[in-house]
Amino acid sequence: MKKMTCHELGGACDAEFEGETFEEIAAKSKAHGMEMFKTGDGPHLDAMQKMKDLMQTPNAMENWYAEKKKIFESRPHLD
Ligand SMILES: [Zn+2]
Repeated sequence: MKKMTCHELGGACDAEFEGETFEEIAAKSKAHGMEMFKTGDGPHLDAMQKMKDLMQTPNAMENWYAEKKKIFESRPHLD
């Protein structure tokens, strides 16, 4: 598996997400973001707002996804 942190995925903390695929990690990161949103965590709310603003740009989502996936692919495989 591979690991990425909340920070690396545009979040606001050092929580780590593990997965065999980027999709798996992205899903975990999303669930974590929802959890932080529910608890009203300030830094995560700011990060989400920034993400929302960024997504106003055409193709921003695709670019973001491709960029993060590249980081994922450059990571060594962990047991
Ligand atoms: Zn986080």
